[in-house]
Amino acid sequence: MSNIRILVGCKRVIDYAVKIRVNAARTAVETNNVKHSLNPFDEIAVEEAVRIKQRLPSRVSDILAISCGSAKCAEVLRTAMAMGADRAIHVEADDSTLQPLAVAKLFKAIIEKENSNLVILGKQAIDDDSNQTGQMLAGLLSWPQITFASNVNIEDDALKVTREVDGGLETLSSKLPAVITADLRLNEPRFATLPNIMKAKKKSLVTYTPQDLGVDITPRLEVLSVTEPPPRQGGGTVESVDELISKLKEVGAL
Ligand code: AMP
Repeated sequence: MSNIRILVGCKRVIDYAVKIRVNAARTAVETNNVKHSLNPFDEIAVEEAVRIKQRLPSRVSDILAISCGSAKCAEVLRTAMAMGADRAIHVEADDSTLQPLAVAKLFKAIIEKENSNLVILGKQAIDDDSNQTGQMLAGLLSWPQITFASNVNIEDDALKVTREVDGGLETLSSKLPAVITADLRLNEPRFATLPNIMKAKKKSLVTYTPQDLGVDITPRLEVLSVTEPPPRQGGGTVESVDELISKLKEVGAL
C-alpha cells in the first residue's frame, strides 16, 4: 500500500455573503475593500483531506494546501492549516490574469515536485464559477478524475467515491493517483479553533513565482465585458386567481 500525499486547492475568493458589484470599467467584479475568504468548496476539500488523515493516520503522510494569486492568499492558506493542513505553498501571481488552465499547470508543476498522489479541489470557485481546474489538471496529468464527490472512501490503493447525479447516486472506483473535486454535501467543514489558528502560524508556508515553476500563465481568454443582472421589477398584489391569470396572460407568462 502506497503512502498518500494529499494536495488541496485553496482559492481566495470574495466572501459568499458579500453582495457582488461590477467594477466601473465593466471588466470584472469589484474586489477592492471587499471581504475575501477561502472558497467554500475548498473548505470542504480541506476538511475531507483532514478526515482522511484522521481515518488513515499511518498512510497519509502529508496534507499540502496550495493557493495561487496575490500576496493576500497567505490568509486562506493559514485558515487551511488551522483546519489541519500540514503545510502550504503560495504561488504569487496577479489574480486578474490567472485563468483555470494556468492554475492547473501550476498545480501540475507542484504535484510533480512534491510527489502528491491524491488531489482534492473544490468543484468550482464561487467567484468565476469556471468548474474547470480539476478537470484540466486530471487531463494534464493523465490521471483519473472523479468530480462532484459527495462521499470518499479509500480501501488499500483504491478510491471509492460517490457522486450525486440527476435522479440518484453514482459510485465510482479508481486507483491512486487521482483528482477528486468536492461537492457541497461531502462534509461540514470544521471551524478553526483559536489554539489551532495559533499553531498554524508556525507551519511552513513557502512562496514560489510561476517562473520558479517554469509555467507560462499568459491568459488564453479575453474578458469582453461583465454586466450586472437587470434590476428586478417591482411586484404587485392581485385580489383573485382570475385576476392573477389575466395579469400573467398580459405579460406573456401564460
Ligand atoms: P474553478 O475551475 O476556477 O471553478 O476552480 C475549481 C477549484 O480549483 C477551486 O475550488 C480550487 O480548489 C481550485 N482553484 C482554482 N483556482 C485556484 C487558485 N487560484 N488557487 C488555488 N486553488 C484554485
